[in-house]
Amino acid sequence: MSDKKSRNTQSKKPKSEVLKGHKKVGTKYLPPFMTYPKLETISWGQDMLLEFLWLALLSDQRGYRVAVQNAIKLSDIMNTVVEESRKRGFNLASDFDEALQGERDEVMSKIDGGLRKSLDSCVGLITKFYPEFPMKWLVSEKWMKEASVGLDGLEQIKNAIRTRRDRTSKLAMECQVLAFVMEGNAGKLTVNSEIARDLNLVSEYPESDESRKMAAQVRAALNALLGHRKKSRTWPNYFLRHSFEISPCEYGSESKDFEKSYPDVMDAVEPKEAVMTVVNKIFEFGEQFENMAQMEFKNMWNDARVDLANPTRHDVIIGLLARNLQLVCDVVQNPGLWIMPISAIIVRCMIETQIRLAWLIKCGNDTDFKDYIEYGLGQEKLYVEHLKRLSVEDRLDKKQIIEDIEGREKWISAQRSTFLLAVDIGGGNKGKDLRVMADEAGILDMHRLGYSPLSSAVHGHWNTIAGLNLTPCLNPLHGRHWLPALPKRPISLSFLFDAVNCYSECFELVSLSFTCKEIESKAVQSYLEQIREVFNSPPERNEGSYSTT
Ligand SMILES: [Zn+2]
Repeated sequence: MSDKKSRNTQSKKPKSEVLKGHKKVGTKYLPPFMTYPKLETISWGQDMLLEFLWLALLSDQRGYRVAVQNAIKLSDIMNTVVEESRKRGFNLASDFDEALQGERDEVMSKIDGGLRKSLDSCVGLITKFYPEFPMKWLVSEKWMKEASVGLDGLEQIKNAIRTRRDRTSKLAMECQVLAFVMEGNAGKLTVNSEIARDLNLVSEYPESDESRKMAAQVRAALNALLGHRKKSRTWPNYFLRHSFEISPCEYGSESKDFEKSYPDVMDAVEPKEAVMTVVNKIFEFGEQFENMAQMEFKNMWNDARVDLANPTRHDVIIGLLARNLQLVCDVVQNPGLWIMPISAIIVRCMIETQIRLAWLIKCGNDTDFKDYIEYGLGQEKLYVEHLKRLSVEDRLDKKQIIEDIEGREKWISAQRSTFLLAVDIGGGNKGKDLRVMADEAGILDMHRLGYSPLSSAVHGHWNTIAGLNLTPCLNPLHGRHWLPALPKRPISLSFLFDAVNCYSECFELVSLSFTCKEIESKAVQSYLEQIREVFNSPPERNEGSYSTT
């Protein structure tokens, strides 16, 4: 079930803690860091990890201890060759692109023994698959000519990234400590002796508190150091684009880290073959619910007193309640509607109706009811005007359009003279938006926690499509991008319960208004009780889930 309890906590206008510390600029609330206009960010997975890929591979191939020795030795050689202004750790692959040809020749002449072997097998492997690798000139011609590399080589590269995607993993931390050491070795770091001594703690990372503290300091220092130094994205961009050419996207089921989770009471149904049995039972309860709900609706209406001299208020209120009854009956009897985002879209419609209903009952005067009707008729009139524009064109459906116009004008005229009917191209309600109506009706949390979040499902905002329509590509060589997801969506009862509870609250609200009696919907109670028996642990009755009144 959706987390209704958390929505049921609206207090009497305490000072809001939501987005505390943010600065309002126009319609946006900016977090503190975003108020610095020149702030630049650096990504681990899309940027730094690709720069450190050679260190990761070196470590995988030769072991961490040898990797440290090799990397520092290479860094030392580079720093004996380049001029003072370009001395650095030489831990980023892109650093090597800046070496001049003469410098490259001198460096190559100084590389031998274990370092030569390491660079050939590690930098050579990357160069075989990525010919524009900035360190390619460090590989011996002989190795490039003679070495045969199969697809298992690409798997090595994938694995080097996959195992370090999490920046706080042990392998990723080893890589970062190594880069940090190289920078210090080149004399480009000023750190206190405590951090320098603590670097050895990487061997016990992440088990001890001290090692985790050291790791956090190293990550922060690298962000500042390399984020400031590195400007070019030539290598990471080339790596990602070339990866797409040489290695296909990977779908998989390991994407739970990224997927939105919709916990649901149906998840608990075991075995899974029993799901349809449960669905069929709930479907039967839905039929019974409709019968009971319609009966009690009529009984309540029979008890209501209608002022026929001024029936507008009653017409609108009962119409809005009937709309939600119709929608909830559609939902409970159609398992095809128990899936996202359809379920959320319908519930959002019902919540909008509930907010309007609550506002009209609690705050509306005769003019507000009249305006509500005339807004709807005005929209109909506007549509007719557009149809008239089409009807003068030479079209095959001209006759049908003219008939449609006549029918609609007749329907409008039965209620208002069209020549006296204004067309409001705003949102109706004199420009009062639904949030204000919810606030004035004392159900602001209904808007904040119900209507607004579900608007994403209606409009297809990113937070909905990334959860429902996309899935992350699992190919480690592809950085982070998304693939279309066309999964068979599981049946979820969360929004079905929300729909039933929404109707229940509307029914109680209208009953109180029309009959001055607090009447709970027996249809809803019975329905939820039946479901409670099926699951043996009920969907809780969300007493006034969004309402404070
Ligand atoms: Zn991909």
